[in-house]
Amino acid sequence: MSIGHFVDGKPFTGSSERYGDVYDPATGAVADRVELASAGDVDLVVAAADRAARRWRDASLAKRTAVLFAFRELVHARRDRLAEVITAEHGKVLADAAGEVQRGLEVIEYACGIPSALRGGFSENVSTEVDSYSLRQPLGVVAVISPFNFPAMVPLWFIPVAVACGNAVVLKPSEKDPSAALLLAEWFAEAGLPDGVFNVVQGNKEAVDALLDHPTVRAVSFVGSTPVARYVHQRATAAGKRVQALGGAKNHMVVLPDADLDLAADAAVNAGFGSAGERCMAVSVLVAVEPVADALVARIADRIAGLRTGDGRRGCDMGPLVTGAHRDRVAGYVEAGEQAGATLVVDGRQVVADGAADGFWLGPTLFDRVTPDMSVYTDEIFGPVLSVVRAASYDEAVALVNANPYGNGTAIFTNDGGAARRFQHEVEVGMIGINVPIPVPMAYYSFGGWKASLFGDLHAHGEDGVRFFTRGKVVTSRWLDPRHGGVNLGFPTQS
Ligand code: NAD
Repeated sequence: MSIGHFVDGKPFTGSSERYGDVYDPATGAVADRVELASAGDVDLVVAAADRAARRWRDASLAKRTAVLFAFRELVHARRDRLAEVITAEHGKVLADAAGEVQRGLEVIEYACGIPSALRGGFSENVSTEVDSYSLRQPLGVVAVISPFNFPAMVPLWFIPVAVACGNAVVLKPSEKDPSAALLLAEWFAEAGLPDGVFNVVQGNKEAVDALLDHPTVRAVSFVGSTPVARYVHQRATAAGKRVQALGGAKNHMVVLPDADLDLAADAAVNAGFGSAGERCMAVSVLVAVEPVADALVARIADRIAGLRTGDGRRGCDMGPLVTGAHRDRVAGYVEAGEQAGATLVVDGRQVVADGAADGFWLGPTLFDRVTPDMSVYTDEIFGPVLSVVRAASYDEAVALVNANPYGNGTAIFTNDGGAARRFQHEVEVGMIGINVPIPVPMAYYSFGGWKASLFGDLHAHGEDGVRFFTRGKVVTSRWLDPRHGGVNLGFPTQS
């Protein structure tokens, strides 16, 4: 047996006979294998979605919201089960997996309000006895391609909104943790979503490329690393699709000299090491504006000493990394930082984990005196490695953030409202926290970064999500008054 697809309302086994290993990161063992779809499998899935889309676009808003409310209840009632499945394949601790489910639920709740979000405008008498009004209509079949680090939340950034807008969805989850997507598909079906409106196709590059090239797929929502996001954007836009491709990040947290240093140290530890740093909004660079660096580094090191790394099912603070290969890659950055001359304050390679010997462990790691030329600073590491860069002034700190090619999230810690206001105004980043280290917007705002953290124009969920999954139409209508008439070849203007 292996983990398969979900198509047209039921589990589906493809014909590719290609598989990927799925690990339990806390034991290091292969726990299962997942099917990797062929282009032919993708064709079948898209055809099912296309049939469903043609019917679902005509479903009333009342019907769509009834399904979404029922789905919300099922996910809410079974959130612990979903969290367990996430932890088993991803490794994050259960409390963190539950937090991810909660953030996904918020988008489902937002989508329950779709009738308000889809309201158009109406203008009476734009010309004599002529009215004009706007509509937003679904696109048809849309593809969602998601990363390993949020196997439930990231798909839920898009799917509820896409479905509420009247589209059919094909989700291609990460092949590293494919099971959460199948639970969502089963529960959507149980909630009354018609067959084929939400489908899951498992796979890797072959499945992704087939979706990007498929003429029936009208739009692609992608989340993953920057090189793949850039590639997905280029290939899918070349194929004439609408694309939003969210990429990687290198999030800076700036601490000004007047900040509450205990609050800042707590925040840096939470945002740097939560989910083992495998979050696109994790803080990976702390910019300490002097003279606070020594005091801040000492406080962070103290807090790290109290963290327990281990099996996410045992109440630990931090779990393993997702695969052995990723753990080794992150450990390689620790070595590179040391060799480049950064001060290794806490070495996560020495961690004694509360878990099986072969788990993919790496403990929280803290570097001080990192400089912008070092690979620990330039690269997205996506692990529990926090780099402290010392800056002489506020201006130097902001210049550093703005020179970085990424622009996903950033935070400033200060008690000076004027400085915070200036920061929010001049920093070139999509999501800003003021004394908030992980400023993930609520579902009714939109999530997205700037620069190399997003390719495309519209962000995820909120108003941008509704715009992304719909096309605008404007109708100009005249119901003839029997007195009206006459030929006029002039360009239509008001009269
Ligand atoms: P990834 O880019 O390796 O994979 C993402 C998806 O793309 C997966 O479904 C994968 O199967 C597919 N894929 C991988 N290589 C491909 C290729 N060459 N061609 C076509 N498809 C390919 O990312 P990941 O390691 O799963 O996730 C971590 C990355 O995602 C990090 O860079 C992180 O910052 C980013 N991320 C960004 C956000 C955001 O909102 N900006 C959110 C979560 C994660």
